[in-house]
Amino acid sequence: MFRYDCPLCRSTSKPYLLRKGAEEKGVRHRSQRHDDMHPEGESILVEGFTVPQRGDWKMAALVAGLLLMGLVSKLL
Ligand SMILES: [Zn+2]
Repeated sequence: MFRYDCPLCRSTSKPYLLRKGAEEKGVRHRSQRHDDMHPEGESILVEGFTVPQRGDWKMAALVAGLLLMGLVSKLL
């Protein structure tokens, strides 16, 4: 999920499924609150997981396995 965050207003948008949604919220927010200026530190927050695909799980397992092997080899 994606949220637009404005540190100047200390506010964060509702979560959007697509990054584009949060970015468009940012455009509207800047237009309404900041006269189309870009507040310093504004950002798009990414939270939670974006529905992992089958391949992503395999990749995550592979990375976790490699990390574990590295850890074990350091201990020995
Ligand atoms: Zn703002």
